[in-house]
Amino acid sequence: MSKANEILAKIKSYHRIIIHRHMNPDPDAIGSQLGLKFLIQDNFPEKEVLASGGPVHDLDFLGEMDEVSVDKYSNALVIVCDTGNTPRISGKDYDCGAFLIKIDHHPDDDQYGDLRWVDTTSSSTCELLTLWAQEVGLTISKRAAQLLYAGIVSDTGRFLYPATTPRTLRLAADLMSVGFDWAALNRKLDSISVTIAKLSAYVFENLVVDQNGAAKVIITQEILKDYQLKDNQTSAIVSLPGKIEEIIAWGIFVEQEDGHYRCRLRSKGPVINEVAKRHDGGGHPLASGANAKDLAEVFTIYQEIQEITQKYEGRKNEFTSLS
Ligand code: AMP
Repeated sequence: MSKANEILAKIKSYHRIIIHRHMNPDPDAIGSQLGLKFLIQDNFPEKEVLASGGPVHDLDFLGEMDEVSVDKYSNALVIVCDTGNTPRISGKDYDCGAFLIKIDHHPDDDQYGDLRWVDTTSSSTCELLTLWAQEVGLTISKRAAQLLYAGIVSDTGRFLYPATTPRTLRLAADLMSVGFDWAALNRKLDSISVTIAKLSAYVFENLVVDQNGAAKVIITQEILKDYQLKDNQTSAIVSLPGKIEEIIAWGIFVEQEDGHYRCRLRSKGPVINEVAKRHDGGGHPLASGANAKDLAEVFTIYQEIQEITQKYEGRKNEFTSLS
């Protein structure tokens, strides 16, 4: 039996299914979690399907979480979407169910669960779930299609990042043909508040870039307070340095209330998840996250980014002209 059919068989055999995703959710985390919830509910209306993981802050326009008490987990199937490692799972009760499935596109460093479907060639977990729904012959409703589409659009940077493939575009097109207002959804996903616009200006003003294209910016608690922003709202500025031609790899270091720094690492070529893994983190080769206990560790991480950027040989493959 294929992995896709094994997952379907498990879903069919449980009455209650509880779906988790990662902390600090992005649209792929929420889109895969709620997209899967609706795929199951719309095809198997007799089942109880719950989404667990706490508030989603500014992404609540995508949907809401359910209140899930621990007693709900007995005899339940638990599915964790878009989460590479267990410490990042939002909701501590994820391992209290009868059977655990991991569906993800991050490197499979932490092989948790009784059944895993991990495809690191997929742009997003939403792409993987769209493929799954088609493969097992499920009907994709409008509400499921919008969520899956939102996750694909966001995790590919609007089909810009290298993880975008012909399959990504085909599946996104299939979701669009279900029929929903994708222009309005794209606008919503792409819009920023005035305060984020001002923080963007701060980021551009304060970027430090070395001669090889390694960049960093530090956002302190003081800055967050000045701009009246919370850490989770900084996701809108993480991709900004990538727009700058000279920048190859970068880190955005956001000071947290307890004094440690959330490190958001991005790259156009040099593999940065090995850096992340050395500093309490992980993620994709070109998009990772880590934690620095203090400013000294932030400087160490930046130094490591500088080193891999200096060694990076890929510049000669850069696009030069159409001819
Ligand atoms: P972020 O910068 O939070 O948007 O994260 C970028 C990517 O790295 C996402 O795919 C995350 O799932 C992953 N990631 C972020 N922080 C961590 C962490 N502490 N451990 C493992 N993976 C992480």
